[in-house]
Amino acid sequence: MTVAANILRIKEYLPEEVKLVAVSKTKPTNTIFEAYQSGHKIFGENKVQELLQKYEALPKDIEWHFIGHLQTNKVKYLVPFVAMIHGIDSFKLLKVVNREAARNNWITTCLLQFHIASESTKFGFLVPDAEEMLASDEFAKLGNVKIGGVMGMATYTDNMKQVRKEFRELVSIFNLLKNKYFKTDDSFREISMGMSDDYLIAAEEGSTIVRIGSKIFGKRNYI
Ligand SMILES: *Cc1c(COP(=O)(O)O)cnc(C)c1O
Repeated sequence: MTVAANILRIKEYLPEEVKLVAVSKTKPTNTIFEAYQSGHKIFGENKVQELLQKYEALPKDIEWHFIGHLQTNKVKYLVPFVAMIHGIDSFKLLKVVNREAARNNWITTCLLQFHIASESTKFGFLVPDAEEMLASDEFAKLGNVKIGGVMGMATYTDNMKQVRKEFRELVSIFNLLKNKYFKTDDSFREISMGMSDDYLIAAEEGSTIVRIGSKIFGKRNYI
């Protein structure tokens, strides 16, 4: 199967309103370009250096999503061109994104990452910490970031019951925050969840963005 055919097949299974981010990490630019030429324009990367190289090499109408763990000292490289930062996991990081976006005269769309998996290694806010941030005056003053919604990663397991439960947890976090802090803010609308092995479950549970790598590009040799 070609990359283009894989993308088409996944889109057939997905509800039309769910956005597909093709996760191209570790894959060469010519493979990404092949997908691009078939009409897919939304790609995700998790390493800043790799994303910068690909951004330089590829057409400028690609919508790049940063899906990895982001260090504050690298924010400045992404802000000028990235469409969405999925992994905002601290107030400190959000403030740096705001500062860099202000420098670029820009508003950067960010998703708040929540820790929903049972593994302790996955990054993300705990709900009370996110609420403390969202309720603060300091947050209210951030004029150069837009909170687009939430993001989460389920536990790496074959137990789809557990995965579904974790996706439901993320949806309930989204609903809680929506009602309490973003009731009249239409920008807060995305739930980024679902990867190659669980995207159909994620879509059933209300995902609006799925991030799919290996089902499109084949297995990776490393993360
Ligand atoms: C790698 C990665 C994905 C895609 O994983 P696949 O299992 O290859 O689909 C999705 N989200 C994040 C945050 C990733 O790092």
